[in-house]
Amino acid sequence: MEEAQLPKIAVSACLLGEQVRYNGGHCNHRLLQSVSKNIETIPICPEVGIGMGTPRPTIRLIHEDEKIHLIEPKSGTDYTEDMMNWSELQSDFLLKQKISGIILKKDSPSCGLERVKVYHNGTPRKEGQGVFAMVFTSLNPQIPAIEEGRLNDAVQMENFFARVGMMHRWWERDEQGWTLASLQEFHSEHKLLLQSRSPNAPAALGRLISNHSDQHPQQLALEYITLAQSHMNTIVQRKHVAGALRRAVGRLPETTISGKARQRVHSWIDGYVAGTAPRMAPLAVIEQMFEISELEHIPWKRLFQPFAMNSGVFAKI
Ligand code: SF4
Repeated sequence: MEEAQLPKIAVSACLLGEQVRYNGGHCNHRLLQSVSKNIETIPICPEVGIGMGTPRPTIRLIHEDEKIHLIEPKSGTDYTEDMMNWSELQSDFLLKQKISGIILKKDSPSCGLERVKVYHNGTPRKEGQGVFAMVFTSLNPQIPAIEEGRLNDAVQMENFFARVGMMHRWWERDEQGWTLASLQEFHSEHKLLLQSRSPNAPAALGRLISNHSDQHPQQLALEYITLAQSHMNTIVQRKHVAGALRRAVGRLPETTISGKARQRVHSWIDGYVAGTAPRMAPLAVIEQMFEISELEHIPWKRLFQPFAMNSGVFAKI
């Protein structure tokens, strides 16, 4: 039997322990080690990529002539064009590798995703994006992107990997070539997960499919995952997760699960929303009820386990 492929994630090389920083060091990220058995990482270092050595003088984003430049202040060398060209080529390469996510080093004028310092007449303002990060995310808005600092927040880490799991399954279907039917099936499978992040997402994505059913399925599938990922890119709220859990309970067959048992699950969900019960309490009970019913409900599976369960990315909330 062919072994299932792991999701590929591009990562700023310095976060993987490669000594590529300007000072010849690295900033190995411990959380990436814990999840490493569940993903395949692709290291990238834009500054080494454009031929800057290690160690090297620092570079910064400077606002000049109404534009933002990537400049080495010591020598005045402007790396903007080299970095833009390399970033476009590398973005293309990473897409061909079918990556399901990208993890970038914060604050870097090349890799930082947000609040990177831009210098105006020598004064920094935290308002920019690293050049590579800006090019990659503009060209590939459907690929989940996050800075390593946000992985220290358990809820954000889990949500990022839930998005990675969804992207990975999209790539798996993409290999077989999309049809309207396979896209509708993908949507049905992910409805509960989408609802748990953004209650309006299932209806909005359903409309996208039905309003554009005459479009080429490959193009429609790309539009679908781009919109789906933007709905998933949110702060996870208990009330939304609870809404999806209640909907899952509604899918349990009445013949095997009594009304009394359902009431008990709803009270666990109430406890989770109020913060008096961990999320795992209603999750475990509902999972057990699906097992007792011998019902393989794929949308529930996607919500219960959006990414490998043994990966340690699930927040204990
Ligand atoms: S932040 Fe980006 S450019 Fe800087 S060393 Fe790390 S990978 Fe290279």
